[in-house]
Amino acid sequence: MIVREIYAKSILSESKVSDYTVNPYIGCEHGCTYCYARFIKRFTGHSEPWGEFIDVKINAPTLLQREISKKKMGEVWMSGLCDPYQPIEDKYKLTRSCLEILLKRKWPVSIQTKSTLITRDISLLQQSRNIEVIITITTGDEEIRRIFEPKAPPIEDRIRTLEKLHQAGIKTCVMQLITC
Ligand code: SF4
Repeated sequence: MIVREIYAKSILSESKVSDYTVNPYIGCEHGCTYCYARFIKRFTGHSEPWGEFIDVKINAPTLLQREISKKKMGEVWMSGLCDPYQPIEDKYKLTRSCLEILLKRKWPVSIQTKSTLITRDISLLQQSRNIEVIITITTGDEEIRRIFEPKAPPIEDRIRTLEKLHQAGIKTCVMQLITC
């Protein structure tokens, strides 16, 4: 895995899916074969295959702090072009830092992930009634999952994650489409 720390120019982007999207990372360790976000690779200069590089926007929280004051409140989708809780988030905590800013300002947030790492932030997510967590489960068959989502967590782990979030009183739903 090639990891590069970069300084982004902006972070709170307008979106057609939600009002805004925040992507703390470019690239995604899960490396799903169907990932629509792989088009972004051609703007990065990376030659590695999708799933084998990540650009870490180390200034994402600083940018968000600045940009949130200038924009009209709206729902933020995390993340659109990467899984905000892919494994590297355990080290950099950029998704967590961005969420802290959004929640402090009471912005509504929709988080989409396949990752169990989101349970690390349960106590943070509990601080807002305006948060929804979407867990993607595209198949119940582990063999199929291994073909299409080779480095994403197993289905059972995702179901357990949903259960933990639900038990913690966090609004959850399941995305069954082939998406992030
Ligand atoms: S988890 Fe989402 S963003 Fe990451 S590779 Fe899979 S489809 Fe793409």
